[in-house]
Amino acid sequence: MNLRKKKNIFVIVSMLAMVLLFSAVSLISFRYFSLDTVRSTSRMAAEMMRVALTEEMEKGLISERADLIARMNRVPGLRDVHVVRGQPVINQFGPGHESEKPSSPQEKEVLKTGKAIEDMSQFKNDIYKVTIPFIASRFNDINCMNCHEVPEGTVNGAVTLTFSLEHQEHAALLAVLPILGLLVLFGLLVAFYLKRMLDPVVETAEDVKTAMQLAKSGDFSHRVQVLSNDEVGEIASNTNAFVEALENSIGAISKKIATIGVEGMHRQGGQKDLLTHTLHVVDDMVNAARFKQEIEEDLDLTEVYNRMRRILRDRFHLDRFCLYEIAPESGKLRVVYSEGSEGCDSWCDPTILVDSDHCRAKRTSHGVCSCDAANICAAFRPEHEGDDHLCIPLMLSDRVGNVLQVILRGEQTSKVADLRDAIEAHMAVASPVIESKRLMQSLKETALRDPMTGLYNRRFLEEFSGNMISGISRRKSTLGILMLDVDWFKKVNDELGHDVGDQVLKSLSEIIVREVRESDIVVRYGGEEFIALLPDTDREAMLQTAERIRARMESTTVQTSGGPLKKTISIGCALFPVDADGFWQCIKFADLALYAAKEGGRNQVRPFTPDLWQEEENY
Ligand code: GH3
Ligand code: MG
Ligand code: MG
Repeated sequence: MNLRKKKNIFVIVSMLAMVLLFSAVSLISFRYFSLDTVRSTSRMAAEMMRVALTEEMEKGLISERADLIARMNRVPGLRDVHVVRGQPVINQFGPGHESEKPSSPQEKEVLKTGKAIEDMSQFKNDIYKVTIPFIASRFNDINCMNCHEVPEGTVNGAVTLTFSLEHQEHAALLAVLPILGLLVLFGLLVAFYLKRMLDPVVETAEDVKTAMQLAKSGDFSHRVQVLSNDEVGEIASNTNAFVEALENSIGAISKKIATIGVEGMHRQGGQKDLLTHTLHVVDDMVNAARFKQEIEEDLDLTEVYNRMRRILRDRFHLDRFCLYEIAPESGKLRVVYSEGSEGCDSWCDPTILVDSDHCRAKRTSHGVCSCDAANICAAFRPEHEGDDHLCIPLMLSDRVGNVLQVILRGEQTSKVADLRDAIEAHMAVASPVIESKRLMQSLKETALRDPMTGLYNRRFLEEFSGNMISGISRRKSTLGILMLDVDWFKKVNDELGHDVGDQVLKSLSEIIVREVRESDIVVRYGGEEFIALLPDTDREAMLQTAERIRARMESTTVQTSGGPLKKTISIGCALFPVDADGFWQCIKFADLALYAAKEGGRNQVRPFTPDLWQEEENY
């Protein structure tokens, strides 16, 4: 119920209550006043009856008492007078008229006890009936004992008087009505005064409500009318000052936010009011700025991606999401990571991995959400009915670098608008950092790889070996080291040219990569020398791998521009830390073994043996 209604009800109810209360009090008071009056009237009438009867008796006119009673009956308000004769009088003067016998138990009781009895049973019908005894006394104005031969205090008879209170009620009404009229007038005056007093309060309250509602939705133009110069007026002025302050602060902030080019920041989230929305946006901006600072300081792209993953999981409470990376040359999507038991594979048509244009977010370069339109992306495969997907592209300067796919289920779907704003804000600030980290990574990759074969180079081995060795030592494992060299390679160059030589080297590098595990590392160590590092490999497996590579090279016919060509390789092997506890020492030993393989006739695998080192030292 609004304040205006409450005020009206209060004024009407208080006025009615005042009138009703006064009327009730007046009526009750008057009733008691009537009763009191009729009581004293009845005593007086009984006394008059007694005096009149005594006089008639003295004057010898007692036989005419019926006339007296009949006259009494004509007195206005007195409905009935009934005189009854007591036993002592009957005993002395006889039974009297028939009507003088007691006609009710009340009269009999009064004759017996000598005490007046009121019959209130019909009082509510404005009838008052009382029976009053006549008691003989020599101390009355006329000595009763002059005629009655009875002792003092004898009940000689009684009179029952029945009064009608109608005319008194009438008189009461006449007395109360003008007062009631005055009271209504007074009530109206009070109501009018109350209305005058409360109206500005109600109007100001409604005005303040409107101003606040508009301010919440971002409209600060409404001002509250100042209707009085009391506290209510002060509330109005203070509200105006407050709205003005909001206009100058929040209004300006939200306008500025709307002008910044960060996608998602300026979207009005759901039905939220401007204040809450601005606060959310500022919150998102602060978080995003902090995130940017953190990822800027991260070592590499992997660290950035991992931080992103933690934020999505811990700050946004997401449990199903997937980060894709788009390769710059091929444009293919690659899954960086996938959070949630179902995994990326089950959320999208796998063709997006082959042809990234099937991913709508990648193709259109803007956010795609099934909350905007159901089935918006043909590649989306919802696991559960009602699942929403939100796919946000991460823009690098001229292309989409990553796509973040978030699956929202159950309650999460209702928060999609908020999440979208916040995630887009994070992605927007992350994109330049990710771009520079990707660039750094590719530069580093270039510096650490051999451009011709795509294998790691010697520099990589120098930088990376420390990590690998500490892992091997920690696990108390062994690392197989293969040193490979093409036999009589100079001849190829000399006879068929350098290009053909290069083709042989490429072919060999492919054979080595194919014959080792994915976790093994293949390095182009020198011109036509290669090293394969086989972590967690024992001597036997190391020699088997080496032999496999050798045999594969021997059996391969390399198709070159100079025609088909068959070449062999020699391989020297050493096992770290069994052959030597220093990594570079082991490399040296593998080289010695390779030399021994060459010496031994080439196209063979030769493990390091301590005698080789002995020979070298002697030499
Ligand atoms: P051996 O069986 O003793 O190893 O005989 P070899 O002829 O292979 O001798 P060696 O291993 O010393 O030969 C190295 C030659 O490899 C020297 C150089 O001309 C050639 N070479 C080094 N790098 C490249 C390269 O990138 N491309 C080509 N085509 N040849 C290279
Ligand atoms: Mg060589
Ligand atoms: Mg060689």
